[in-house]
Amino acid sequence: MSRRDRDADPDPELFAKLARVGIPGVVTPRRYGGAGLDWIALGLACEELEYVDASCRTALSVHAGLCMTGIYQWGTEEQRQRLLRPLAEGRRQGCFALTEPDAGSDVRALRTSATKEGDLYRIRGQKVWISMGDFADMILLFATVNPEAGAAGITAFALDRELAGEGLRTQPIHDKYGLRASDTAVVYLDDALVPEANRIGDEGDGFKVAMSCLDSGRFCVASGAAGTIRACLDLSVGYARSRIVQGQEIGRLQLVAQMIAGMQRDYDIGRLLWMRAGWLKNQGQRSSRESALAKWVNSERANRAADDALQVHGATGFSEECPVARYLRNSRATMIYEGTREVQVQLAAEYALGYRQDRPVAHPLPAWPDEGEPQVPAERPAP
Ligand SMILES: Cc1cc2nc3c(=O)[nH]c(=O)nc-3n(C[C@H](O)[C@H](O)[C@H](O)COP(=O)(O)OP(=O)(O)OC[C@H]3O[C@@H](n4cnc5c(N)ncnc54)[C@H](O)[C@@H]3O)c2cc1C
Repeated sequence: MSRRDRDADPDPELFAKLARVGIPGVVTPRRYGGAGLDWIALGLACEELEYVDASCRTALSVHAGLCMTGIYQWGTEEQRQRLLRPLAEGRRQGCFALTEPDAGSDVRALRTSATKEGDLYRIRGQKVWISMGDFADMILLFATVNPEAGAAGITAFALDRELAGEGLRTQPIHDKYGLRASDTAVVYLDDALVPEANRIGDEGDGFKVAMSCLDSGRFCVASGAAGTIRACLDLSVGYARSRIVQGQEIGRLQLVAQMIAGMQRDYDIGRLLWMRAGWLKNQGQRSSRESALAKWVNSERANRAADDALQVHGATGFSEECPVARYLRNSRATMIYEGTREVQVQLAAEYALGYRQDRPVAHPLPAWPDEGEPQVPAERPAP
């Protein structure tokens, strides 16, 4: 992975490799081609992938957390079979395109337009910073059917690369600060075509679709970030036990031990935070508050852990021979995407102050146990 990071060379086979071990459909019910496991299983997959490299976890986040969750929650039964199944089976790769040059945190400002012509929509505009945009077969894309209507015009589409025609073009973004082994693309839309049958939800539902996708995407970012913290902890413990200064292991030095204790604290807290959000999701409950909080805390703490790990390693950490510099760069991205740190802080404050309350989920998540499982009949009390 460090070679791909150094050369900024995303692996075009990464998704196929994840698919070989059944990761893409881990939380999708079996009747839609998934593994039918629960949200904790998806969180563990994110944590383990990011323990190695955040670019691997990013591929899973945008595929399973953002793209597939949107289609599952808002798609019709026919769309779940036609669009979701190939994604869950790992035959097709998904991504999520919301951000535009002039619309990042302010989603309502998006300008990409969708114009209906017969049973097709023509999409015009531009999306930027789209993870896996160059590799994805299916883009869950947000455009407005009425630019004057603000959020009420935003509509979600499953844009299929094979059906989009020449109006869809993607181009990788070069010279990123971090996540250099991850593809990040600009998506050009010059009359890209989407069949009406691939509209997800009704016209005007798109803002709500995007927000519900972000609940699950943030869960994936949060669980992944716990993987970075654990990786930094393990590397730092190993180094602190082997590096001798003034005749003793540096782990015996209080200030070094303090950094390691902080990583252990943040890993334990971070893991509990993402697991709480996962537990709620397993019950089919909304996790907007808990996912946003876990994403905020864990992304910030992962960046802090990477910075401390670099410090523990001294000059060794300042070299690309040691993975902590890569962890430091990569963890910076998680404080920006899927809602910046400031957006998460704002959300936490609004929930605490009572300015924001969530209604129960109208479009349920895949809940656990998988509905495809044979149900064990409840025991009847003796008459
Ligand atoms: C590596 C990477 C991968 C990405 N992948 C994807 C992807 O797959 N799909 C996708 O759609 N997008 C993706 N993004 C885009 C990402 O989601 C946006 O960059 C993010 O939402 C912030 O938008 P912005 O960059 O336009 O910043 P802006 O929204 O312009 O924010 C600039 C600054 O203002 C602050 N700010 C903005 N609004 C508020 C507020 N209400 N309160 C307080 N402060 C505020 C921000 O926190 C930030 O500090 C990716 C970005 C990166 C870096």
